[in-house]
Amino acid sequence: MDHTSRYDLDRDALGSVVEELAPGSPRYRAAQVWDGLHRRLLEPDELTELPRPLRAALRGHPAMAPALELDREWETDGGRTRKWVWRLADGKRIESVLMHYDASANHQARSTVCVSTQAGCAMACGFCATGQAGFERHLRVGEIVEQVTRAARSAAADGRRLSRVVFMGMGEPLANYDATLAAAHRMRDDLGLSARHLTISTVGLVPGIHRLADEGLPINLALSLHAANDAKRDDLVPINRRYPVAALADACRRYVERTGRRLSIEWALIEGVNDGIDDVRDLAAFAKPLGAHVNLIPLNPTPGYAVRGTAPARVQSFHDELRTAGVNATVRQTRGREIDAACGQLAAGQVGAPVRLRPRP
Ligand code: SAH
Repeated sequence: MDHTSRYDLDRDALGSVVEELAPGSPRYRAAQVWDGLHRRLLEPDELTELPRPLRAALRGHPAMAPALELDREWETDGGRTRKWVWRLADGKRIESVLMHYDASANHQARSTVCVSTQAGCAMACGFCATGQAGFERHLRVGEIVEQVTRAARSAAADGRRLSRVVFMGMGEPLANYDATLAAAHRMRDDLGLSARHLTISTVGLVPGIHRLADEGLPINLALSLHAANDAKRDDLVPINRRYPVAALADACRRYVERTGRRLSIEWALIEGVNDGIDDVRDLAAFAKPLGAHVNLIPLNPTPGYAVRGTAPARVQSFHDELRTAGVNATVRQTRGREIDAACGQLAAGQVGAPVRLRPRP
């Protein structure tokens, strides 16, 4: 069965749908539908400028079906963090997380959505709930883009404007390269998001990093490093056995040179595993020549991994030691732990029973 959805259509395909439903329509009709879906984030039903019969026909046309059906919604931080579990047309489940940040001395208010690129993940990082659940399938372009349009609508209803997208939800974006890139293009070209406000996070698929470097898109790259020597990283991030640390450093260097974007490095601090003085040294040796910014994330709990996150005092001293070694670093305050919405916790209910979850009233 064909499970394409409305955002899988390009302009030409949408034009054909309009022509099929209302032969001889003026050309601006297709443009109205396109803008309605992308710029105004409306449902076909809400496009009141269209003739009523066309609107009704669009509503019933399979190619115009939404990709995502709301399964469950969770909220925390007084509504500033919201997680959705979506059901796809084939019954698979994925998650996205919307985060609102209030204005501060350094930042304007902004809203970011974290989107999934695969149902499940094949990378098998033991500390990550998505990795524990295993791989189901790649997402289509329409399934990725619609996570953004739904989040943008939700943000607008909160009086906020969605301005950033991070490809840090379920799955490995560079393993689903074509759909991820097409979705990024759609976000920039049609949803009006700047490429500089898009971030693709990768476990370190070296060929994908090289390919992305050649796209001519100033998109941000985040690398989930977690260990910076091969013996340790082979263990924590199994794909390292194929793409070892030196090759990864080369690919990142080339990415930074070609795009002019700063690299960020994610480092989940795991007690007694990657939070020692040796780890500071290895990480600094990797990050410093690249001018990378390191995000330190105390490990979030997941059902399939017994080791704990580093205690706050050691997080602080690790941070200090890293800065003394000349590396820019930030301790990330984690969002949405209590609704299993934080980094590495997205499993769409596949792993364990999410007993801490409480639905919205
Ligand atoms: N597959 C891509 C996209 C996922 S991003 C990638 O790995 O980059 C999700 C981020 O959360 C990654 O940096 C991942 O390593 C991190 N992560 C996974 N499990 C975590 C956990 N339990 N606590 C904190 N961060 C975790």
